Amino acid sequence: MERLLSTTMEQEIVDVDMPQLATQWARIRGRLQSEVGDVEYRNWLRQMTLAGVDGDEITVLLPTRFLCDWVRSRYGDRLNALWHAENPAIRRVDIRVGGASAPTVGLAESLAAVQEPPPVVANRLEDRMDQRSELQIDPRFTFEAFVVGKPNEFAYACARRVAEQPSSQGFNPLFLYGGVGLGKTHLMHAMAWELVARNSTNGGRPVSVAYMSAEKFMYRFIAAIRSQSTMQFKEQLRSADVLMIDDLQFLIGKDNTQEEFFHTFNALVDAGKQIVVSADKSPSDLSGLDDRLRTRLGYGMVADLHATTFELRISILEAKAARAGVAVPAKVMDFIAHKITTNVRELEGALNRLVAHANLFSRVITLETTQEVLHDILKAHDRRITIEEIQKRVAEHFSMRMGDMVSSRRARAVARPRQVAMYLAKQLTQRSLPEIGRRFGNRDHTTVMHAVSRVTELMSRDAGFAEDVELLRRMLES
Ligand code: ADP
Ligand code: MG
Repeated sequence: MERLLSTTMEQEIVDVDMPQLATQWARIRGRLQSEVGDVEYRNWLRQMTLAGVDGDEITVLLPTRFLCDWVRSRYGDRLNALWHAENPAIRRVDIRVGGASAPTVGLAESLAAVQEPPPVVANRLEDRMDQRSELQIDPRFTFEAFVVGKPNEFAYACARRVAEQPSSQGFNPLFLYGGVGLGKTHLMHAMAWELVARNSTNGGRPVSVAYMSAEKFMYRFIAAIRSQSTMQFKEQLRSADVLMIDDLQFLIGKDNTQEEFFHTFNALVDAGKQIVVSADKSPSDLSGLDDRLRTRLGYGMVADLHATTFELRISILEAKAARAGVAVPAKVMDFIAHKITTNVRELEGALNRLVAHANLFSRVITLETTQEVLHDILKAHDRRITIEEIQKRVAEHFSMRMGDMVSSRRARAVARPRQVAMYLAKQLTQRSLPEIGRRFGNRDHTTVMHAVSRVTELMSRDAGFAEDVELLRRMLES
């Protein structure tokens, strides 16, 4: 509710009947959410804000044109109907671009939330033999769907190995760690899936797998304390053959829950059961975690998921596009893989949006549509490189004074680096040639043009020089 009204429009609504409209709007959002489901809602509708009302028309804002088009075509009629049902005076809903665009962090979070798989709680095969569809393991998260590359091949191999032969020597516990969105949860679900789907047996008995996030573990533990059923809780967990706890870092600072987890952990390991844990850091870096637990977590196999490389990102995009049955030009994949470098979830989110857009409007995907459709995501990832930064880096690199970037000296020793800086400014910023010229001591745009072609030419002739320029570019981009 608190973010319901965009401040600029607040006045307008107050004039009408803000509390009433706000309540109605909240109810409509709630209805919509339950109709379309959480994922869909978060994906497309959460960013709607109520802008105002004008006669029988109500205005709803969305931050980008794409979201706006999408919501209008998919939910426009429904919004009309819901509004009219809530408030018969409203006859039309106008969906427009506007409102505060999501802050960078918010965007990343909302993308993360969209892709977050549903929690899986104690998938006890015995209870569910005939109802596999009820298993809450995300069916998309299989080993087959996991794209393997240098950064994750070791973690992948360990996960496969444990799924095939739980509790083998040297692999217990299996500790997977890495940054956000690099595939920890995916691998854990794939393991659970594999263990259950293979219907592997353990002394004639089906293997039971319990998977939950550390957060869920805490809530269940607290609930058990409240309902005085901790014994049951303990027994249930301790009867699992494989216990997986995702995002263990969540337990830092939650001492009682940690203590409980430690006991469960020990009981299971002592009974020869397999433990799989994921976290955002290695055991030794998880400061704040109980030392005994930290030590024991490092006893088995510790495997990290490294940040993605460009090659891996391309492979992932290719695999996902093929899966979606959509033709994405190589140029577009290159572009996305260059721009979205942080995590796979965002990469996926970007591709999903592109695919949805192409399907919705039956348009082929081009670099232009990509830039337009991903506008807000790209903006959030755009680390703006300034001309000053470029000048400073280049000056440092060639050991010249920063002042000579803008001076009129024409000696080769300063003129060449200056040209390199102009070239990089053209490549790495959105500035126009005249603007760049101005920032280099009020030079003419033709001087910048000349610098760009001169540097391009030199790079093609002199490999050492080209390497220098590339190095500078990489340093500036990172
Ligand atoms: P984490 O748990 O490490 O934060 P997830 O496992 O939730 O990350 O992964 C985020 C998203 O990225 C998921 O949709 C997942 O399927 C996808 N993903 C991550 N790594 C890969 C990969 N190597 N191949 C295919 N999809 C991947
Ligand atoms: Mg995860």
